[in-house]
Amino acid sequence: STWANVPQGPPAILGITEAFKADSFEKKINLGVGAYRDDKGKPYVLPSVRKAEEKVIASRLNKEYAGITGVPEFTKAAAVLAYGKDSSALDRLAITQSISGTGALRIGGAFLARFYPGSKTIYIPTPSWANHAAVFKDSGLQVEKYAYYNKDTIGLDFEGMIADINKAPNGSIFLFHACAHNPTGVDPTQEQWKEIEAAVKAKGHFAFFDMAYQGFASGDIHRDAFAVRYFVERGHNICLAQSFAKNMGLYGERTGAFSMVCADAEERKRVDSQIKILVRPMYSNPPIHGARIAAEILNTPALYDQWLVEVKEMADRIITMRALLKENLEKLGSKHDWSHITSQIGMFAYTGLTPEQMDKLMKEHSVYATRDGRISVAGITTDNVGRLAEAIFKVKG
Ligand code: PMP
Repeated sequence: STWANVPQGPPAILGITEAFKADSFEKKINLGVGAYRDDKGKPYVLPSVRKAEEKVIASRLNKEYAGITGVPEFTKAAAVLAYGKDSSALDRLAITQSISGTGALRIGGAFLARFYPGSKTIYIPTPSWANHAAVFKDSGLQVEKYAYYNKDTIGLDFEGMIADINKAPNGSIFLFHACAHNPTGVDPTQEQWKEIEAAVKAKGHFAFFDMAYQGFASGDIHRDAFAVRYFVERGHNICLAQSFAKNMGLYGERTGAFSMVCADAEERKRVDSQIKILVRPMYSNPPIHGARIAAEILNTPALYDQWLVEVKEMADRIITMRALLKENLEKLGSKHDWSHITSQIGMFAYTGLTPEQMDKLMKEHSVYATRDGRISVAGITTDNVGRLAEAIFKVKG
């Protein structure tokens, strides 16, 4: 038949969700989900998003196409959110709306593959979000790895990271997670970012930031944007992928932005024209609904203030669950050092559990997560944290 040559691909990450659904145990726990859950384990729509959406619907806008680069009120506000309202980048920024963070990475990858004057190789951390390598390869870039995670300390391999930045050929492209590194939850400190910036500058590397969790990591949108803003302040003309999936809970609305800091307004004009040429044959123009909601929030002071409180509540719930998990493990008498659970940040925690221990968690305790030991802290609740700690204690001690 026509597709006899199409090989069966491996199961995607969603395999965990299927196994979870098939488990009939009432107290099963799903820590595989990459989306926020409230303390009852339910998907959460931010009240500020509901309000903004009602306003958008009430204004009975038409459904005409946006331009290739999307809803201007959205991209303008997204740029201010990321770079800061006084940033020197704003008047030399080429920005386009994108199909959430993934689409932003893809546009950036394609732009670099077409125009980056140096080697078309992008260095991503080890490990990185599972989709990074695929997105960049399919964009036409070569993908290499740099050291990031130290499994002995369950923390940052800072020396290894700096060594790899120094080892890469001058003028290489480096991808950085701006905050809440996925999957490890391990971020450089601000002091370490300063050293990373110095190393990147000394080598003339190009920095590509993926900021999928602004505000969702620490609860403070400015703090979470530190690395991005610091690099710009230090003269790097970075590029940036932004997602509103997590911080506004707009997952399925696919709301994001890709931006390139240019040398000046003239360069911006040329880059902008080429971004349009890239986007046009990919999907012509982006969806408007999520962007309208985000724009309503970002451009209405009262809604914006409400949203800031709500992002912080999500971040705080996650921080609280981390503390509770650690506390429960210690109460059970675990002799391991669990401080990484609370020093890590964002939706995901690297537990340090082995693939075999993760299998046991699943088979013997109905706790579902990926075999790399990553758990989604958003899946932990006041109700299940005790049982989770017991399960981890039984598996690991
Ligand atoms: N980058 C990272 C590091 C992520 O964790 C995610 C979401 N899992 C994304 C990008 C993109 O997500 P989305 O396309 O839903 O915005």
